[in-house]
Amino acid sequence: MTKATSMDYSLADQWILRESFFDRGNLGKAEAVFSLGNGYMGLRSATEEGYFGERRGLFVAGTFNCCEETEVTELPNGPDVIGMEFTLNGQRFALDSGKIKNYSRTLNLKTGELTRKIIWEAPDGAEYEFDFYRFVSREKLSLIGQKVVFRPLSADVELKLCSGINGQMTNSGAQHFREMEKRSFERKYFRYTCETTQSKVLFVASQVHRFFRNGKAECVTPVPAMGRRRIFGDYVIALKKSEELTIEKLSAIHHSRNKLLEEKSTEEIKEYSLDFIQEAEKSGYDTLFEESKAVWENEWEKAEIRVTSENPFDQLAIRFAQYHLSVMTPSHDSRMSIGAKGLSGEGYKGHTFWDCDQFVLPYFIFTFPEKAKKLETYRYKTLDGARKKAALGGYDGAQFPWESAWVEDGEVTPAFGDADLITGLPQVIWTGKIEQHITADVAYGVWQYADAWGDEAFLDDMGWEIILDTAKFWCSRLEEGADGLFHINDVIGPDEYKEHVDDNAYTNYMAWWNMKKAAEGICTLKKNKVSLYEKLDRKLDIQKLEKRLLDCISRMYLPKADESGLMAQDASYLTLKEIDLRKYKEQDYVLGIYKDYNAEQLNGIQVSKQADILILFYLLENFFDDRMKKRNYTYYEAKTLHDSSLSLSTHCILASDLGETETAYTFFKDAASIDMGPNMKSSDDGIHSASIGGIWQCLIFGFAGVRLIDGKLRIRPRLPKEISEISFPLCWKGERLRVTVKGENIRIEKLAKGEVNEYLRDYQS
Ligand code: BGC
Repeated sequence: MTKATSMDYSLADQWILRESFFDRGNLGKAEAVFSLGNGYMGLRSATEEGYFGERRGLFVAGTFNCCEETEVTELPNGPDVIGMEFTLNGQRFALDSGKIKNYSRTLNLKTGELTRKIIWEAPDGAEYEFDFYRFVSREKLSLIGQKVVFRPLSADVELKLCSGINGQMTNSGAQHFREMEKRSFERKYFRYTCETTQSKVLFVASQVHRFFRNGKAECVTPVPAMGRRRIFGDYVIALKKSEELTIEKLSAIHHSRNKLLEEKSTEEIKEYSLDFIQEAEKSGYDTLFEESKAVWENEWEKAEIRVTSENPFDQLAIRFAQYHLSVMTPSHDSRMSIGAKGLSGEGYKGHTFWDCDQFVLPYFIFTFPEKAKKLETYRYKTLDGARKKAALGGYDGAQFPWESAWVEDGEVTPAFGDADLITGLPQVIWTGKIEQHITADVAYGVWQYADAWGDEAFLDDMGWEIILDTAKFWCSRLEEGADGLFHINDVIGPDEYKEHVDDNAYTNYMAWWNMKKAAEGICTLKKNKVSLYEKLDRKLDIQKLEKRLLDCISRMYLPKADESGLMAQDASYLTLKEIDLRKYKEQDYVLGIYKDYNAEQLNGIQVSKQADILILFYLLENFFDDRMKKRNYTYYEAKTLHDSSLSLSTHCILASDLGETETAYTFFKDAASIDMGPNMKSSDDGIHSASIGGIWQCLIFGFAGVRLIDGKLRIRPRLPKEISEISFPLCWKGERLRVTVKGENIRIEKLAKGEVNEYLRDYQS
C-alpha cells in the first residue's frame, strides 16, 4: 500500500480489520467496509456521535419503496437507532474537537463485533476513556446491540447522554417514510413506528437502555424528548473520577414484510416488537453477543478458507470477503436477493444485478448450496416480472430485468443518470432496455447451482422453467440477417462503454448456451420425466419451442476468431479508433475517462470499461483453446480500464488459467483493494458485492483452478509464488469436501466420512 490511510491491515491477527486513526475526511469508507449485518439488515458503521459528512444507514432487506413517480424503487434508509450524543461537563464529545490520545476501531470478522477504543482530552483538558462495542445479531435477526464503557480519567464528571431513535433519515434527501407513532413506556422503552410511503411496509423500532455503575445495575430514568420523527431520552449521570459507567443500548427493527409478521396487524407487530426488546433486555449485551458469536463460529467452521501466503493481507482479504458475503445475503427469505452494494449503502438502490448470478452466486454454490438455492428461488419468484418485461418489448418468454428489487417489481433500472459532459443533461441509462445478457446469466446461474450440487429436485420444481422460458425469450429476440444467420442487434454487453452494438460476443454465446441447455433439457425431460415434460408443455408450449430452438441454435451467429485467434467483442469494436489509454490506465481512481469523453464518444473508441469477452473464456471454457484465450486476453486487457469492480477478478482468473500467475496475483490484490485498499472514496456508497465475490473467485477459480465443466469438477492449481497452500470447503454433488491445493498437488477430503484422496494432480471428477 502506497498511501497513508487510516485502514491498517498489516496485522498479525488476520481476523481483524483495523482503523488506526480517526479519518475525519473519509467517514464513508469505514462506514461501509466495517458495516455490520446479518442478511436481514445491514448497518453502516457510522459512529455513535454524529459528524457532518457521515452517511448513517440502516438497510433492511426487501423493504423496497418508491418515493416519487419520477424515481425507481429503492431500499429505504431506516430509522437510526445507534446515535448517542455525550456531553461531559458541558462539552460535547466529538473527535474533531479536543485531542485524541488513543484511538482504534476494529471489526472482528470472526465474531462480527465492531469495537472502538478512544482516550479523548476534552477542550477543557479533562480526559475520558470510551470503549464502544456493537454487533448485529446473527441469532436474533432483528436485534442490534451496543455497549459503551465510559471512564472519566482525570476528574469527576456530569455526563449527559441523549440517545434514542431517529426517524429523520433519508436516502440522499429522499424521504421514504410516513411517521405513525412514537412513544415511551415506563420511561424506559422507546418505540417508533413508521411506514414506507408507497409500498406500505411497516417499520417498528423498539429500544431499551441499561446502565451499570462499576458493574452494578443502576436505574437511570430519562426525560423522554420527542421531536419530529424522533424519540430520545436525556439521561444525566454524575460519576466520580475512579468510576466506570457501562451503557447498553439494545434496539430491534421489525417490519411487516418479515415472513413471521406479515399476517399480523400493525398493533400486533408493535406489541411483538416491544415484547421482543423486553425479552432481550433480560439477557443483556454480553449474552446476546455470545449467542450471535456462536452462529458466526459455526459458520466459519464450515466455510473457513486457509491461505498460506507470504502476505498476511491475502488471508485477511478472503476473510473480509466471506464476512461481507455473509452479511449481505438475505438467506432467511427467498423473496430477497443480494444488491450490488449488499446492504452496506445507498449505492445502486439495493438493486440486484448480474453481479449476483455471475460473481457472488459461485461462492454460495460451492460453500453454502442451501443459500445458493434461496438466491435461485428468488429468481424463480421474479419470473412473472421477467415475463412482463419480455411482453412489453414485444418478445416471448421471460426476460430478466437488468435491475431487480422486490419480487413483483420487474424492471427497476432508473431512466437517467449522471450529467453528460457535453450536453449538460442527465444521461439516458440504456442498460435497463438493452443490457440483455442478464437473462442468460440467470439461466447460467440456475444450471451451475443445480449441476454442481446435483439438485435435480430444484431443476424440476423451478430450474427448468427458468431455463426454458429464458431460451424462449432468446428465440424471439434473435434477428435473421441477410446471411441467413441469427443475430442479436442493438445491445450493451458487459462492457458498458459500448452501447447499441450488434453481435456482442458475450451476449450471443451466452444466449446460444441458454438455448442449447433448454433444448437438451426438453430432450431429457421427454425421455425421462414425461409428466414434468407435459406439465411444462402445458405452461410453456415446449413442443413448439423445441423446433424453434433447434433452428435458432443451428443458425445462431457466433463470432469466430481471426487467424491470430482474436475475436471481436462486437461487430464494430475492432474497427473503432485507438487512442493512447495510458493516462486512464494509470489513474488511481475509476471512471476518469468521463472527464474527457461522454458516452457517445466512448462508443467510438477501442476502450472497455470492464472484462467482456474474457468472461466467456472461463464460463464456457471448453469452447475456446488456450491460444485464443491468450490472444484475446492480451488484446483486450490493454484496452480495459477496469472502471467496474467486476473486471479485475475475471482478469485474475484468465491470467491464472494462462499460467501468468504473478500477473494474476497482482489482479487479485487489486481486486481485494477495491474495498479494502487505499482509495478512501471508493466505498462511500457501499461495498462492491461482485468484487467481494470476485475475491473468492480469484482464489478458487483462479489460483486453485476449480471449474465446473460439463457436469465434471476440474481442479488445476496455478498458485502464484507468494501462496504455497490454499485449503477450502467445496460442496460438490451433495457432498461437502475440503480441498487443499499445495503447489501443483491437490488433496481432497470428504468431510462427512473423513475419506481422503491424497495428493492428486489436475483433478477431474
Ligand atoms: C457495471 C455492471 C454492474 C453494475 C453494478 C456497473 O458499473 O458496469 O457490470 O452490474 O455496475 O455493480
